[in-house]
Amino acid sequence: MIVHIKISLEEVESKGREYRWERPNQCPNSCNGKIWGHGFVYRYFRDCTNAIPLKRWRCSVCHIILQYRPLGFWRRFQDSCSRIYSALLERISNGKWPPDIPRQRGGYWLSKFTEYAVLHEMIIEDDLRKSVLYFIEKEFCFI
Ligand SMILES: [Zn+2]
Repeated sequence: MIVHIKISLEEVESKGREYRWERPNQCPNSCNGKIWGHGFVYRYFRDCTNAIPLKRWRCSVCHIILQYRPLGFWRRFQDSCSRIYSALLERISNGKWPPDIPRQRGGYWLSKFTEYAVLHEMIIEDDLRKSVLYFIEKEFCFI
């Protein structure tokens, strides 16, 4: 289970495994199990030179594994969701991707967004821009 927490990626990158992670208070399954450290997974994020060690935890009773992930970053994406949405808005409004977004990457985001919005009947008034703004407002994730 992924748990999004507010952290500074720069700070975690500079301190590495010495970063002091805050232990979860309790198991999300409410089993009253004790939460123990369960190592790290390394993930890449945009603007970070190295892979970042993200702390994992394990419940002693139900054995669920919790993996921390920075707030605002979806699973399997290196860019923050706000950066993804702002790139989508620029592409839809101006027909061009922001210069720092590779066309292939942006195209993948746009295709995933459109696929999700169509599948869930969330295209607002046949306007992709309005649909993206709606997703931002509701903090929806399209993956
Ligand atoms: Zn548990």
